[in-house]
Amino acid sequence: MEIANLDIKFLSGVGNRKAMVLEEEIGVKTYEDMLYHIPYRYVDRSKIYRIAELSERLPYVQIKARIRNLKTVGNGKSLRMTAIAFDESGELELVWFKGLKYIPSQIATDKEYLIFGQPSLFSHRLNIVHPEMDDFEKSSQLLVGLQSLYPTTEKMKKAFLSSKTLHKIVETIFSTLTGKIPETLPAWFIQEHKLMYLHDALYNVHFPGSDELLRTAMYRLKFEELFYIQLNILKMKYRRKTFFKGCLFEKVGSYFNDFYTHHLPFPLTNAQKRVIKELRQDCGTGRQMNRLLQGDVGSGKTLVSLMAMLLALDNGYQACMMAPTEILANQHFTTITELLKGLNVNVALLTGSTKKKERTPIHEQLNDGSLQIIIGTHALLEDVVTFKNIGLVVVDEQHRFGVAQRAKMWQKNEQTPPHILVMTATPIPRTLAMTLYGDLDVSVIDELPPGRKPITTLHSYEREREKVFKFIEQELQKGRQAYIVFPLISESEKVDYQNLEVGCDRVRQYFTPRGFETAMVHGKMKAIDKDNEMQRFVKNEAQILVSTTVIEVGVNVPNACIMLIESSDRFGLSQLHQLRGRVGRGADQSFCILMTSFKVSAESRQRIDIMTGTNDGFEIAEADLKLRGPGDMEGTQQSGLVCNLKVANLAKDGLILNEASKTAAAILQNDPELNNEKNTTFAEQLKRFFKTKLNWRFIS
Ligand code: ADP
Ligand code: MG
Repeated sequence: MEIANLDIKFLSGVGNRKAMVLEEEIGVKTYEDMLYHIPYRYVDRSKIYRIAELSERLPYVQIKARIRNLKTVGNGKSLRMTAIAFDESGELELVWFKGLKYIPSQIATDKEYLIFGQPSLFSHRLNIVHPEMDDFEKSSQLLVGLQSLYPTTEKMKKAFLSSKTLHKIVETIFSTLTGKIPETLPAWFIQEHKLMYLHDALYNVHFPGSDELLRTAMYRLKFEELFYIQLNILKMKYRRKTFFKGCLFEKVGSYFNDFYTHHLPFPLTNAQKRVIKELRQDCGTGRQMNRLLQGDVGSGKTLVSLMAMLLALDNGYQACMMAPTEILANQHFTTITELLKGLNVNVALLTGSTKKKERTPIHEQLNDGSLQIIIGTHALLEDVVTFKNIGLVVVDEQHRFGVAQRAKMWQKNEQTPPHILVMTATPIPRTLAMTLYGDLDVSVIDELPPGRKPITTLHSYEREREKVFKFIEQELQKGRQAYIVFPLISESEKVDYQNLEVGCDRVRQYFTPRGFETAMVHGKMKAIDKDNEMQRFVKNEAQILVSTTVIEVGVNVPNACIMLIESSDRFGLSQLHQLRGRVGRGADQSFCILMTSFKVSAESRQRIDIMTGTNDGFEIAEADLKLRGPGDMEGTQQSGLVCNLKVANLAKDGLILNEASKTAAAILQNDPELNNEKNTTFAEQLKRFFKTKLNWRFIS
């Protein structure tokens, strides 16, 4: 029975409307999709707690209680309903923020309920937010063994697709199946790795016979999922390395050598040297390089990429560097022009604000080859930009670019695709890198230039603002500069702009009379104004830069040694780390101050602790992955892949991933094209799974 071809709409109990919501909300169209909608947790529903036993440390609980005092409280955004649930041992608050219209009709005070949910502590009081409530008398069937809980959305709940309904649908699927669900792994492989059969695994994941069976079932599904992803990526990498021609950079010539001997402003760190060597080797094989360069903020990636570009020039090719923002592109242009002073290299800048009359000659010179290095933004992607022979594309802060955009750069050389070097300062946890970028080669700059003092990070409450300003003032008096950053989650949010304006006024009120100038940048400003303000800060005409996160990536002002992050609880970990990386670039001791109001959520508290506890970007990335889960990590949304992991979780399943990756590599080693008869299942499955994803996977 081909479960992938059976439409869920025709299953009894589903129907058109529910099917539509299932497809829209969770992408479930077929029986198979539904079976792979895996419960996100299981609860032991044989146990009923007494209210007195509860604490916020228990994950999920159920109690048997009556209800009193159902009422609406608060207003505006804090509008909610509350009620008291009580049993003979004590009482507990129940809270609802959503669906307030329906709640009164569903709750009666003369009944006993089986109440299920996650206890949390709010203002020293235990409560359960959005509890699941069942009439106790009718809930006996709930009180058995492990129960699966399914992820649902608000829209699903409105369409009566609760976790319970989903469970019921899965039950119906299994009862309609006439045979076993066909295997997706060869028998020899299942035996060799002692895996559970697919049919049994899927069954036990939804209806666990025991803890042990659930574990084995999960392992089978996770292992398989990760195995096929690794098999796919590694196979692709093998192909690229075997069949894809690349521009040959065979010699190190006078551009590179002259720069290295006469123009290097400082000795390279060992890590920089090693990476340059890796790049040189990779570009000298005649195969296309597709490399990810990871290096924490301030580790000196720009210089490395410049030297790679010079190598391209030495071999008669052009090179380009693409940055995600104009500020950053401008800055790269300034840095690189400065570094190349005295060398006879043509460099130009092309961004959205380049004027038409400058644009035309740039286009012409790129086309006839007289312009050797072009630095720019998305403007480089336009079709009018054509090269004589582009040999290397550097993409800075690559997580800011979509796959399609990078793909475009591949096509800028019609004969041979240029080498691609993507750089990122957002460290990527290893599991994520293996899954997202497993087909790329990776270089890491794991060393900061000498003389950098580790940044001291402090947490400060709003009410200590005077003290904080005073501290900043002292640093400014020593001739240093400061960033003050405000959150701007969406560039259109009015409230945020008000906060920014008010905040900036407050800064000026304090600092202007004390003789310090303030510049301000935010995303809504015209590029030219932004640039002017930036320049005032760069030239130290302004000592303070008040900004939104537009300065998040790349900006380099070594004299700035204070980073004050306002409402820092509104930033994610990787953003905080990026922002902090703006300071600590000179020889002075630098400080990062995380400002919050007095009340911070438990999660923000964790982020603050991590930030004050470590400067190590990789450690932070791992922590971020654990806190947020892979779907939310920066740079993963665009891939579509990580979010589409149905069973495995990259934050938790690192060990299984290793095993799966090793297994895939071993199989490919003997049979890179999967032509052996015993591997035909693999080949078929790859075709099935990766039909639509193949193309972009070739592109870094
Ligand atoms: P990132 O890796 O974050 O892009 P940058 O390339 O902007 O870092 O470099 C950060 C700063 O470190 C720059 O001011 C750069 O001039 C300086 N720098 C780079 N390499 C070295 C080095 N080997 N020794 C000293 N300073 C360096
Ligand atoms: Mg950089």
